[in-house]
Amino acid sequence: MQRYFIPPERLVSGKAVIEGDDARHLALVMRARIGDRIVVSDGRGRTVLAEIAELDKTKVTATVIEPLPADAEPAVHVWIAQSLPKGDKMETVIQKCTEIGATRIIPFLSERTVVRYNPPAEEKRLQRWRKIAKEAAEQAHRDKVPEIEAPMTWKQLLQAASDADAALFCYERENGRTLGEQLKYLFSRKAEKPVRTVLIVVGPEGGFTEREVKEAEAAGIVPVSMGRRILRAETAGMVGLACVLYEAGEMGG
Ligand code: SAH
Repeated sequence: MQRYFIPPERLVSGKAVIEGDDARHLALVMRARIGDRIVVSDGRGRTVLAEIAELDKTKVTATVIEPLPADAEPAVHVWIAQSLPKGDKMETVIQKCTEIGATRIIPFLSERTVVRYNPPAEEKRLQRWRKIAKEAAEQAHRDKVPEIEAPMTWKQLLQAASDADAALFCYERENGRTLGEQLKYLFSRKAEKPVRTVLIVVGPEGGFTEREVKEAEAAGIVPVSMGRRILRAETAGMVGLACVLYEAGEMGG
């Protein structure tokens, strides 16, 4: 069933009000009719079944029938920090990581980031990324839309890392520690504290510099290998994310 995210203030008093592009989509693309049922979520974990009561292409009002269990969200929160890749690859990262189950996506700038960073155009790009996340979350039947942060500097990212229970960075030249071993340890009883939030840091096309590797380690971010094959920057985050969720028992068993 079609699912729509709306701001929490539009899901009150037993009514859901859908406006803007989503109303247009419902009326014109889905050709919805009065009486049709839809799933509406406030993007923060509250999801309901609702029946369309009024509609035109600018506004759809639906009556809440019943709350639905919000059970599509993983218990382990994975944050993906991705050094800004070239072209529109960040869009792919956001779309796919949202489907797989990321909770927060943090683009960042590192020494070998090749894309130009142009602050006046950033706000528009950020809005676009957030729209992609919302649509991917709807399509994936999630109950929450992941947070998409404005690009951070490397320093800001190192600081943000301390908010996660565990922080790992994918480093293709690491030949001791593997992601698999590290995750088995983190999710075992041997870990010092229960791990609810895991940050995975992925480098740019050109990889991390030696200096960044040292700084990350000094900030408590653990380097891990994901095997002998070198993944493209935009692939590495999705793979790391899927591995964390698998090890946490969140990929269907
Ligand atoms: N320039 C490097 C590859 C960079 S790959 C080279 O050609 O050697 C881009 C990013 O993906 C890396 O910074 C790293 O974070 C991640 N990555 C790719 N393959 C990986 C692997 N096998 N193990 C761990 N991280 C990997």
